[in-house]
Amino acid sequence: MKINIIGAGISGLSAGCYLQMNGFETEIFEKHSIPGGLCTSWKKGDYTFDGCVHWILGSDKGSSFYKMWSEVLNMKKINFHNHDVRMQIDLKNNANKYGEKSFYLYTNLDRLNNYLIDVAPEDTREINRLIKSMRIMQKFDLPPVMDDLPFFQSIVRGIKMTRYLEFLYWFLRLKNETNYTFAQKLKNPFLKEAFEILYDGNEVSMLVMTMPLSVFDQKSAGYPIGGSLNFAKRIEESYVKLGGKINYNIPVKKIITENGVAKSLLVRNNKIHSADIILSATDWYYTAFEALDGKFVDKQMLKLKELKGLEVFYSVIQFSFGIGADLSHKPHFSRFPLEEPLISPDGTSYSRMEVHIYNYDPTFAPAGKTSVVVSYYTKNADYWIALRKNDRPGYRIKKKEFFDKVLELLDKRLGGIKEKIEATDMATPATFYRYTNNWKGSTQGWLPSSNLLAPSPVKYTFPGLKNFYFSSHWNQPGGGLPIAIKTGRDVAKMICKKNNKSFRTTRDTEV
Ligand SMILES: Cc1cc2nc3c(=O)[nH]c(=O)nc-3n(C[C@H](O)[C@H](O)[C@H](O)COP(=O)(O)OP(=O)(O)OC[C@H]3O[C@@H](n4cnc5c(N)ncnc54)[C@H](O)[C@@H]3O)c2cc1C
Repeated sequence: MKINIIGAGISGLSAGCYLQMNGFETEIFEKHSIPGGLCTSWKKGDYTFDGCVHWILGSDKGSSFYKMWSEVLNMKKINFHNHDVRMQIDLKNNANKYGEKSFYLYTNLDRLNNYLIDVAPEDTREINRLIKSMRIMQKFDLPPVMDDLPFFQSIVRGIKMTRYLEFLYWFLRLKNETNYTFAQKLKNPFLKEAFEILYDGNEVSMLVMTMPLSVFDQKSAGYPIGGSLNFAKRIEESYVKLGGKINYNIPVKKIITENGVAKSLLVRNNKIHSADIILSATDWYYTAFEALDGKFVDKQMLKLKELKGLEVFYSVIQFSFGIGADLSHKPHFSRFPLEEPLISPDGTSYSRMEVHIYNYDPTFAPAGKTSVVVSYYTKNADYWIALRKNDRPGYRIKKKEFFDKVLELLDKRLGGIKEKIEATDMATPATFYRYTNNWKGSTQGWLPSSNLLAPSPVKYTFPGLKNFYFSSHWNQPGGGLPIAIKTGRDVAKMICKKNNKSFRTTRDTEV
């Protein structure tokens, strides 16, 4: 049985691997010249700049995602780096009792506990509660994803699931807690300010901080040395070893259907590639409203198109610098307040700057030199996408103006790096959109709503269309690489079930 897959992002590659393991003949059609989609990095001169991964859930045992990743690539061959400090946040107004204005989000929970109580002993009760919630999360494999066990094992699993009641109790207690509501409970001004600006001034569910931290502590959310593209290439290698075929530089124009059955792909030069099943592992909007002309949508999808119900995850403006200086003594990830607000050409006003110094990945720059990235998240991706489309010279001018401002600020922060810059790059939401087709340049699909238990917004199948499947980070708010592999795996499992095959996750070939 032949399956044509659109997209060689992590979801498409993973689905391809699992389908090959299960005896299907698959072929991927990818518009870009490389695998990975959003999971990417690129080279400029001697420097590598990364446009994606800071941490991967399941980088080591302790999360069932490790088992999942190990199904499609040899995780032991990847060297993961675990940071001691997740982030350094410099405060504007308050210092701690040592006169320091920097707040450290340690990844080791005992260390974090001691640090928080040391700087804010009057908040011991709230701090202990916070740390306890993460300790409870650690007792459970979150999310419980390996649900393809044989019957008897699944009964045992069901019994074990009752243990999740303890987690559920804490989850429901914390579900509505945000960094703002938590900060309100704190008495110490330094700690209060730190939590208020934890998400760059935004109000965000505390689960967004606590869930990853509970895994960081277990050293199961590391950064893959070599970067995002290297990681994606490992999965591509597995796919090819499993017998999969990839066609690069082949954008798919349309999914051809006949009487409600997906039949083939129309690609460049009006070539048609037929298959028994079509799987789109790309952007949801492109798939539903462009490739399928909006013919197979339900009310929910039409609501999402109007941005009712869910918000699109922020897009990003990324400034990358190759600096001929050793910055190993600098914090790898810090955020600091700006003296004056920085206004982006898209109208967003920023009061802080976030700097990522890749001093922990020796593959990114020659010895004694460093790759540095400044990122600004934006909700106004449409501005950049439209400007690039309608006024290319104007787009370049706006990019340059913004770049120069950011460079000045970075130079001030890092202490005179301007003369040492050997390579630069700037990616806007238009860049992310152009290379990956993600709607509004989204970096992770949908923004998680306050209802983290809400059902998937875009389903694995579309109404009224047979022999068609859809998988990508748009299936699950929050997105990210673990969701990309899980959606690819889920869809492969569904296809097996539909074709009366038991789902295999092993392979005869070493990956
Ligand atoms: C700046 C940034 C930081 C991030 N940090 C993290 C992180 O630290 N941890 C984490 O887990 N996640 C992170 N993510 C999110 C993660 O990268 C994504 O959620 C994930 O890669 C999405 O994978 P996907 O396969 O679902 O989609 P995509 O990566 O969008 O893949 C879709 C593929 O389809 C191709 N395609 C689209 N249209 C067509 C067409 N018409 N024809 C042919 N091919 C087509 C695209 O080129 C692409 O290759 C980050 C993302 C960004 C941008």
